[in-house]
Amino acid sequence: MNFESKLPNVGTTIFTIMSQLAVDHKAINLGQGFPDFSPDETLLDLVTQAMKEGHNQYPPMAGVVALRQQIALKVQALYGHQYDPETEITVTSGASEALMASILAFVRAGDEVIVIEPFYDLYIPVIELAGGKPVIVPMTAPTPQAPAYRVDWQRVRDAITSKTRMLILNFPHNPTCINLTPADLDSLESIVQETGILLLSDEVYEHLVYDDQPHQSVARRPLLAAHSIVVSSFGKTYSATGWKIGYCCAPKVISAEIRKVHQFNVFTVTSPMQVALAHYMKNEDAYLSLPAFYQQKRDRLLKGLANTRFVPMHSEGTFFLMADYSNISDLPEAEFARWITVEHGVGVIPVSAFYRQPDAPESNHGLIRFCFAKRDETLDTAIEKLAGI
Ligand code: PMP
Ligand code: GLN
Repeated sequence: MNFESKLPNVGTTIFTIMSQLAVDHKAINLGQGFPDFSPDETLLDLVTQAMKEGHNQYPPMAGVVALRQQIALKVQALYGHQYDPETEITVTSGASEALMASILAFVRAGDEVIVIEPFYDLYIPVIELAGGKPVIVPMTAPTPQAPAYRVDWQRVRDAITSKTRMLILNFPHNPTCINLTPADLDSLESIVQETGILLLSDEVYEHLVYDDQPHQSVARRPLLAAHSIVVSSFGKTYSATGWKIGYCCAPKVISAEIRKVHQFNVFTVTSPMQVALAHYMKNEDAYLSLPAFYQQKRDRLLKGLANTRFVPMHSEGTFFLMADYSNISDLPEAEFARWITVEHGVGVIPVSAFYRQPDAPESNHGLIRFCFAKRDETLDTAIEKLAGI
């Protein structure tokens, strides 16, 4: 059959490729972001209970009411913004579906959407499916003097034109592990004030923030909240990435448009998990304890890497950590990632995969990404192998 692909540049995601390579070579998988431990038994029991109690048919299109109420309470408690569970919160099939529904609902052919590079792989293909044009604004790359990525908000502001429909944000940031600060929210407020732009804020790592720095959700500022779709994921928060349940919060008129796409994409999301999550969310400790839980893992990996030739970068948030390998090799990142997976038994992700042109020299800074959402034994075994390189 003769047809032209709508996504000619899309292949299999780097996460799938590297996980498969790790399986094929029996490597420890510190690549794709998922925990190698189970969710809390209590949560698992709540799912069984929900099924046995008969929550097995279609739940409401926008999500189980009790779950939306719990999300509203949490967001209000943590960030101070009150979303109406009835009209402003939608439970989705993972953060992925929330992101896709948001982009498809708002981006028309020819619209520009600003994406900050490096970026999570989903955004650009979805913008293109909607007929939009991604406009890439690069972060300032790390240098020996300033060894962290950062966003130049003036560059973001300068990229906004009359055609710009949306600005996509993702903090805590995958893969650079940087968080927003109150000063960043100030800059975003100025941008929104001047341009009225719609923000799509991917905050799936909202609960994974370290060193006593609270997550700076755009929902903290009324002006930003009024212009934002805030997306999160229960997969990250409750160590259940395979459940694919997330949600988005946005003002009523925006949520109404997102729901139009959601109802014809998946209509609704698996009911027993939603009922279980609604009960489980009442225990605030389950998410409030996450920074301490994951900070210990981050520091275990950091300490281990100190005995290797990798130079780790600081991770302020997410369950990832980047490390510089230029003391070991000058291979491009994709080749290096393959090499240590195959030859040294530790699967990782090349940071260049988060760039528009992964093979270009400008996208290669000698960095790989490790996921530390792993049991201590897994991290220790991986560190042992890395120390041998
Ligand atoms: N956004 C980012 C930045 C992510 O890292 C992920 C990871 N999976 C997602 C969205 C998708 O989340 P989900 O699995 O809930 O669809
Ligand atoms: N978000 C995960 C990561 O960055 C992967 C999700 C996926 O495999 N699509 O590793």
